[in-house]
Amino acid sequence: MKITIIGTGYVGLVTGACLAELGNDVFCLDLDQAKIAMLNGGGIPIHEPGLAEIVSRNRAAGRLHFSTDIAASVAHGQVQFIAVGTPPDEDGSADLQYVLAAARNIGKYMTGFKVIVDKSTVPVGTADRVSTAIREELDARKPAGAAIQFSVVSNPEFLKEGAAVDDFMRPDRIVIGCDESASGQQAQALMKQLYLPFNRNHERTFWMDVRSAEFTKYAANAMLATRISFMNELANLADKVGADIEAVRHGIGSDPRIGYSFLYAGCGYGGSCFPKDVQALERTARAYGQELHILRAVEQVNNNQKHVLGQKISERFGADLSGKHFALWGLAFKPNTDDMREASSRVLLDELIGRGATVAVHDPVAMTEAKRVLALDLAATPGAFERIRFCDNQTDALNNADALLIVTEWKTFRSPDFEQVKTLLKAPIVFDGRNLYEPEVMGELGFEYHGIGRSALV
Ligand code: NAD
Repeated sequence: MKITIIGTGYVGLVTGACLAELGNDVFCLDLDQAKIAMLNGGGIPIHEPGLAEIVSRNRAAGRLHFSTDIAASVAHGQVQFIAVGTPPDEDGSADLQYVLAAARNIGKYMTGFKVIVDKSTVPVGTADRVSTAIREELDARKPAGAAIQFSVVSNPEFLKEGAAVDDFMRPDRIVIGCDESASGQQAQALMKQLYLPFNRNHERTFWMDVRSAEFTKYAANAMLATRISFMNELANLADKVGADIEAVRHGIGSDPRIGYSFLYAGCGYGGSCFPKDVQALERTARAYGQELHILRAVEQVNNNQKHVLGQKISERFGADLSGKHFALWGLAFKPNTDDMREASSRVLLDELIGRGATVAVHDPVAMTEAKRVLALDLAATPGAFERIRFCDNQTDALNNADALLIVTEWKTFRSPDFEQVKTLLKAPIVFDGRNLYEPEVMGELGFEYHGIGRSALV
C-alpha cells in the first residue's frame, strides 16, 4: 500500500519504518530540513533500539523515502498518517497548530479519495477539526475540490520510547476509530488491509467510533500516570511511617486485579507524553465544565516528586551546597532513549546548581541531547551550565563526588563494581531515585543509602 507519514519524529519515523518493513511503499514528510537531510544521508536523529537497521534496510530496498516536498507527499499516499507533535499550549491544552497545518496541506493538494489518520495524540473532537480544515481547503478549489471525498480516522499510537520498534511490530492492541459514513467504511476497509499483518495470530484491533478512539489514548496515559503518582505518594508516606514501598509493591501487585506493572516508586515521571497528556485531558474536561480531581492530583504529586531527591540531599547536606560535588547517573527521562523532554534530571540539576553544587553527569546515550537541552535550561544564569561536567563513562563521573545520585534506571547502572564506586567517591553515599539497589545489601557494602520509600530498611 502507498502510505504517507507526516512528521518524522519518534512516532512518525517508527511508524514509517515499520510499515515499510511489512512491504508498504512509505513516504515520510517533515518540514525540518536538517532532519530529512540527516535521514537521506543515512543518519538517524533519535536513539531507538533496532530502528537504524530497519530504516537502512528499507531505504536500500526503495520502500522508504524521506522528503520535505509537501505536494509529493500528498500525491504519494492513499493513506496519510498525521504524526506531528501536539505540545502543550500555554494553558496546558494540546496545541493543534501542527496537526491542523498538516491537514490543510493535505486539503490543498489532494486530487482524489484519501484516508487521513490522526496518529498524533489529540483531544476528543480533533478529527472533526481536521475534517473541517481539509474541507475548507477543498472548497477553496471549487468546483473540482468540492467533489473530492475523504475520511478522517483516529488511530492513536501506544508505543513506548526505548521499545518503540518492538511495540509497533507486536502491539498489545490497535485502536481504530472510524465513522459510519460511506467514506468511513471505505477508510475502515483500507485500515483493515493495512493492519492485517498485525492481526494474523489473533485479532488485536479494537474498532470504535472516532471520539472513543481519541479518548482511549488519553485514558491509557492518564491511568499509567495515576499508578505512578499513587505509588510515589505512598512511598513518601512509607519513608515516614517506616514501611518498605518495595515490599508493599509486591504485596499489592500479586493481586491480579492490581498487577505489577507501573507500580515503581521513583523520582517522578517525565517524557513527552504523560505530563502533557494528563494536562491536556484536564483541560478538555474543564472546557466541558468538569474538573478531573484525580488527574489534578496526579500532576501535582509528580511535580513534587521531581524534587524528592533534592529534598533528601538537603536533609543530608544542608540547603547550601556550595563546595559540594555530585556524580549523577542517568539524564534521559527513561532508559533506552535519548529523549530529555520533562526528564527528572533537569529539575534535579537546576536545583543542585542553583544551590551552589557542581555535578559530573553521565548517560549511556543522551549526552548530546542533554548538552543541548541543559544549555537552554540554564542559559539565564551565567556560569551555571559550566558547573556540569559531562563524562564519557559512568566511572569517570564518580571521581571525588560527595555522593552518587541515580535518576534513570539504565541496565548498566544496576550492578556496578561497588568496591570501585566506594573508592572513587569522596564518601560512600548513594541517593537512588529509581530504587535500583537493595538498602540492606548497600548497608552491608558500607554505603549510606537513600532510596524512595525504603528508609525502613536502612
Ligand atoms: P516529535 O516532536 O518527535 O516529532 C514531530 C515531527 O513533526 C517533528 O519532526 C516536526 O518537525 C514534524 N512536523 C511538525 N509539523 C509538521 C508538518 N506540518 N508537516 C510535516 N512535519 C511536521 O513528536 P513525537 O514524539 O513523534 O510525537 C508525535 C505525536 O505522537 C504526539 O502527539 C505525541 O503525543 C504522540 N505520541 C508520542 C509517543 C512518544 O513516545 N514519543 C508515543 C505515542 C504517541
